[in-house]
Amino acid sequence: MPVSTNNSHGFERLVVLEHPLVQAKMALLRDENTPTKEFRELVTDLTILVGYEATRTLALRDIDVKTPVNIAHCRELANPSPVIIPILRAGLGMVEGFMELMPDCKVGHLGMYRDEETFLPVPYYSNYPHDIAERDTFLLDPMLATGGSSEAAIEFIKGKGAKNIRFMCIVAAREGVARLQEKHPDVEIYAAAFDEELTPKAYINPGLGDAGDRLFGTL
Ligand code: URA
Repeated sequence: MPVSTNNSHGFERLVVLEHPLVQAKMALLRDENTPTKEFRELVTDLTILVGYEATRTLALRDIDVKTPVNIAHCRELANPSPVIIPILRAGLGMVEGFMELMPDCKVGHLGMYRDEETFLPVPYYSNYPHDIAERDTFLLDPMLATGGSSEAAIEFIKGKGAKNIRFMCIVAAREGVARLQEKHPDVEIYAAAFDEELTPKAYINPGLGDAGDRLFGTL
């Protein structure tokens, strides 16, 4: 279990960061008066912090390195650089932060719309490296609300061969976590904050509002 986190709210595969810096940044992010530029910067900072935890379980292998003094027995990442896949549009806000952490990661994209008749999320755009099966995959979406689009996104990338999938968000709601853990129990979920409720319109309560609108100034 990661040392700086201990609150999984009863879920086996959920890690919610407890770090004081995360909590302080969350207070600013949630504030309705925080302007767009600061909001974007906070999402970047929080993604770095959540990403630090989400990459904790990456596989390592031994490597010997020659220092100016002697041979140092070190470890390096065993797998090729990971793929991050932001779910459009709000997931884009988390790309910069993750790339700060792992500048050589590959960046895929996944866009989904809700079918007006079935109400099911349908992928309308996707792009990802051909060797996604050999890489760790981090799916990015700041708000895990009902979990409907996240569930479909995981289904989609699994269909393309993705195996070691971690889901990263800023705010996770109980309903969304429960849904993902039921449908995709192999996927670890990492969040900066956890909220119990959704509003009748499926916003996270208290949440932070529409993350896409707040990131891109389309309020
Ligand atoms: N998406 C958002 O941007 N905010 C919510 O509260 C829920 C889903």
